[in-house]
Amino acid sequence: MRAAIATGVDQPLSVSDLEVPEPTAGEVLVKITACGVCFTDLNLLRGHYPFARFPVVPGHEITGTVVAVGPAVTWPEVGTMVGAQFLYDSCGHCDYCVRGEQILCPQKRITGIVVDGGYAQYAVLKAGFVTPLPPGLDPVAGAPLMCAGITAFNGLRRGGARAGSRVAVIGLGGVGGMAVRYAVAMGARVAVVGHSRRSEDQAKQLGAELYIASGDTDPAVALKAWGGGAELILNAAPSSAAAAATLGGLAPDGTLLLCGYGPDPLTLPTQPMVLNRLHVMASPSGSPHDLRDTLAFSSRHGILPDVTPITLDEAPGTLAAMAEGRSQGRSVIVF
Ligand SMILES: [Zn+2]
Ligand SMILES: [Zn+2]
Repeated sequence: MRAAIATGVDQPLSVSDLEVPEPTAGEVLVKITACGVCFTDLNLLRGHYPFARFPVVPGHEITGTVVAVGPAVTWPEVGTMVGAQFLYDSCGHCDYCVRGEQILCPQKRITGIVVDGGYAQYAVLKAGFVTPLPPGLDPVAGAPLMCAGITAFNGLRRGGARAGSRVAVIGLGGVGGMAVRYAVAMGARVAVVGHSRRSEDQAKQLGAELYIASGDTDPAVALKAWGGGAELILNAAPSSAAAAATLGGLAPDGTLLLCGYGPDPLTLPTQPMVLNRLHVMASPSGSPHDLRDTLAFSSRHGILPDVTPITLDEAPGTLAAMAEGRSQGRSVIVF
């Protein structure tokens, strides 16, 4: 099979041929339809994950069809369309796994970082960690739901977004764009914080009622003037400083939620946090039940990202463009 392989830190992806892997007990072989290109894939090549295993096939926004199952696997059946995400598997017996919070398992393994992922024509995945696609879901446009989608959806609900609440989203990339769509569909009021005015029209088209360009305006002041402040600020930008700059824009009892972050520490003014009982939390993607909920909500509300289809051979160039900041929208490898 054709596969793109990350061979080491600061090495370009190499596209070559690999043996099609065979599913063993508990595993399924998926013929991949599409795999989204996530910033995590770039960060893998930049060496941001010290636990990465090289060589590895990147990619964790996978959709495809089960074409073979390992011994004694009774579900999913051959022919089922499934999605697979960042969480490859987990131990299955710790307190978090037993609670259905496999994403918090200390033994969790990450698809495309420590186990081969979706930049290939086939992947072996764990039967208990793939999610059936809702009928009619477009497997190409739907691929980014497996990471950008679940991260945004799960972050919003864990951060307390609800109908009528004021939600600010920092950054309108993969996760940010999905967060705006989901928050609007949940009935929240939405503001978007960007650096320049470049994304203003897009933010308004997605349903944001307020756009703040942090290059021109203090985002904390602008958010505070928005009905008393945001009840939830979801940082989807790869910058801790961008998140910190909005803290003063939280309403009392409000939450600053990190879905995106930069390598720099998060530095926050402590007195206003205490006086206003502010919360800071972070959220990774989610567990299998979170992905089911994400796909069901997306399907019900017709929420899909705008994607650019590319070929596997174009993936190295797409990652290089992302590294140079000249990529736009979500690229999805289509097989
Ligand atoms: Zn566990
Ligand atoms: Zn991702």
